[in-house]
Amino acid sequence: MKKRIYLDNAATTSVLPEVFESMRPFFTENYANASAVYTFGQEARQAMDSARAVIAKTLNARPSEIYFTAGGSESDNWALKAVAEKLSDKGKHIITTKIEHHAILHTCEYLEEHGFEVTYLTPDSDGIISADAVEAAIRPDTILISVMTANNEIGTIEPIAKIGAVAKKHGVIFHTDAVQAYAHIPMDVQAMNIDLLSASGHKFHGPKGIGFLYVREDVKIGPLIHGGAQERNRRAGTSNIPGIVGMAKAAEVVTACMEETMSRQQELRNYLIDRLVNEIPHTTVNGSVEHRLPANVNVCFDFVEGETVLILLDQAGICASAGSACTSGSLEPSHVLLSLGVNQELAHGSLRISMGEDTTKEDLDFVVDKLKEIIPRLRKMSPAYQDYLSNIAGK
Ligand SMILES: *Cc1c(COP(=O)(O)O)cnc(C)c1O
Repeated sequence: MKKRIYLDNAATTSVLPEVFESMRPFFTENYANASAVYTFGQEARQAMDSARAVIAKTLNARPSEIYFTAGGSESDNWALKAVAEKLSDKGKHIITTKIEHHAILHTCEYLEEHGFEVTYLTPDSDGIISADAVEAAIRPDTILISVMTANNEIGTIEPIAKIGAVAKKHGVIFHTDAVQAYAHIPMDVQAMNIDLLSASGHKFHGPKGIGFLYVREDVKIGPLIHGGAQERNRRAGTSNIPGIVGMAKAAEVVTACMEETMSRQQELRNYLIDRLVNEIPHTTVNGSVEHRLPANVNVCFDFVEGETVLILLDQAGICASAGSACTSGSLEPSHVLLSLGVNQELAHGSLRISMGEDTTKEDLDFVVDKLKEIIPRLRKMSPAYQDYLSNIAGK
């Protein structure tokens, strides 16, 4: 069988074996409804309570501030819609950024259709949103600021603690989509003044279809999903005990060795960036290298189509991405790259490589070697590249 090199961990990750094992009993032996009164149900309830405590501890939050959801998209929808609804008497202005995930951007568009006004901040060319820019956008009727902790395409890490301080100073609620950051870099909701935080299990080696929203105790929002009394009346639906247990196990295992993973991946990331930029001409890195997730590399190859590169990499057993999983296939250039000021043409030639726990230097060397075949081959067929060559020859 051909070897597969999986380098799309920003799209989703593998479930760790110990995570899978922690979930198994809650499918087979103890499948009880955690809301039931009998002991069998109470055992499931206890597993959920300890999972909540484990997750709260990783964020410096209280267990009662963690609400389980069906993933990052639900958490983002809930945070934005519920805060908007709750505070619409106070004001109808929301501040976010142009580089958010579609779970935020499309929710903001929905809110705009319902009478809210949204300011979309443009990042600098490195992909960073400054706290000053956030502060300058605050108005008397601003009710919510939502800025992602780390970007899913270019991996840039935003100055969340500074933005949190600005929000607090002005008495505005602060939400952060931390789906790419949680369990990958240190997060502390107290130190960073975060009021609401979204996370998703499958982005840190937990299962899919489970996530959580942290809601600071004094932020009183209503539910998004109406029904039963689960999650303290704020999120109805029979509790997904295997998912909850698995997500907490993943959080525990991954955060326990976070510092170690970060430094190993940072080294691999910088090695890969250096090789790509030095060995393949006309390659540029998208987003700040300094303020960047340890596992993310995002580059543009001039004169090539990102989609074609992905297909040829796939033929070599390599899984990578052109941007986010959600925009690929649409042939639209990434909204993130465009907002950094990358031109349309170049934005079409982007490649995102996102490493996992098990990525090795050998994997990356294999990728670079393949790209060193693929990129020149595609450029040979590119009219734009031929024009470029004749232009410099004519000078
Ligand atoms: C993956 C992702 C989401 C969506 O999470 P799901 O659990 O897949 O719904 C939201 N925001 C960011 C930044 C993401 O990377």
